Amino acid sequence: MVKTFRCVDLGLPCQFEMRAEGEMEMMKGIEGHIRTIHAMNPELPEVREKLKKAIK
Ligand SMILES: [Zn+2]
Repeated sequence: MVKTFRCVDLGLPCQFEMRAEGEMEMMKGIEGHIRTIHAMNPELPEVREKLKKAIK
């Protein structure tokens, strides 16, 4: 099942969108993006929680 993530779902003014087959691959892609572009730390539990909720 293909999953989708969009930064706008986090309330960020960003056009980034990602599609991936699995959650592992998805998290890797999102982590790299939010770390470099949004200066957020994906290792923080509250950040992880938000990311997981935003994955559709
Ligand atoms: Zn973004």
